[in-house]
Amino acid sequence: MPADEFSLIARYFSAYGRGDAVELGVGDDCAILSLRPGERLATSVDTAVEGVHFPDFTLPEDTAYRAVAAAASDLAAMGARPLGMTLALTLPEADELFLHSFSQGLGLAASDFALPLVGGDTTRGPLTVTVQVFGALPAHQALLRGGAQVGDELYVSGTLGDAAGGLALLRGEWHSDESSEAFLEGRFHRPTPRLLLGQQLLGLASAAIDISDGLLADAGHIAAASGVRLRIDPGRLPLSPALLTHSDREQVLYWALSGGDDYELCFTLPPGMELPPGCARIGEVLAGEGVECPGAPALGGYRHF
Ligand code: ADP
Ligand code: MG
Repeated sequence: MPADEFSLIARYFSAYGRGDAVELGVGDDCAILSLRPGERLATSVDTAVEGVHFPDFTLPEDTAYRAVAAAASDLAAMGARPLGMTLALTLPEADELFLHSFSQGLGLAASDFALPLVGGDTTRGPLTVTVQVFGALPAHQALLRGGAQVGDELYVSGTLGDAAGGLALLRGEWHSDESSEAFLEGRFHRPTPRLLLGQQLLGLASAAIDISDGLLADAGHIAAASGVRLRIDPGRLPLSPALLTHSDREQVLYWALSGGDDYELCFTLPPGMELPPGCARIGEVLAGEGVECPGAPALGGYRHF
């Protein structure tokens, strides 16, 4: 790597490395993170490619923030406590304006999600952002996809379809009032991984997943891994007032069921448990396979291949 790329790393990627678990951050051959006694390491990696995962008009700070949020959401879905992250960044050129803005979004996400940036790799090529996250899990607990039991109840956090509605706004496919547009576009650019909720659900939820490809697709992964059927009541889907400013209810329902990128949690709890804050009960776990949503059109999630 040419020398000027080391100064680039020093300038833009060295300032966000402080955290409780960080013993050694950016600058050596590896970073060193510490676990508490009895903890296990959880890790996940996510890649965002310009034109595939984010439109080419996305601001660099949003690209960075969203890439970290998407990766952090996988820690949330396992119930893991965030420890840190690494960033593999491929750039067409060392554009200082881009890098300044990108590193602002990165720093904000690092602090919002308690994920210090402890290392990475910087290369030249088409804009690609790969974030690997590391988290800690107690020795005998994790939120897996495979534990849902017949008779459990199905829940989601937050509201659904906002990011898909926001992306359609950004593409000029519909219009709403100023504050609804700001809210929905913010839900696309700056998702909120449910890290605290995930940790609170440890030991309570029988199964969990984060919604990155759309509720139906992701609930389908719980159904498949658990060997159960999930029934979703479309009338119970939590919808934001901003999304409901859209006049076509069928479009709203489509976004809520099949729009990706919300990064909410979908999980199952044994019957009779207290409703976790900020969550809605949307259905139940039955014997069988697949996901049914009586009254909704047959829809799929986003697939790359
Ligand atoms: P190596 O050749 O040992 O892989 P590099 O020259 O790629 O190391 O990187 C030097 C240091 O800078 C390493 O500590 C690496 O983790 C860090 N680093 C490189 N790129 C980034 C980045 N985009 N964000 C954070 N740290 C980075
Ligand atoms: Mg390297």
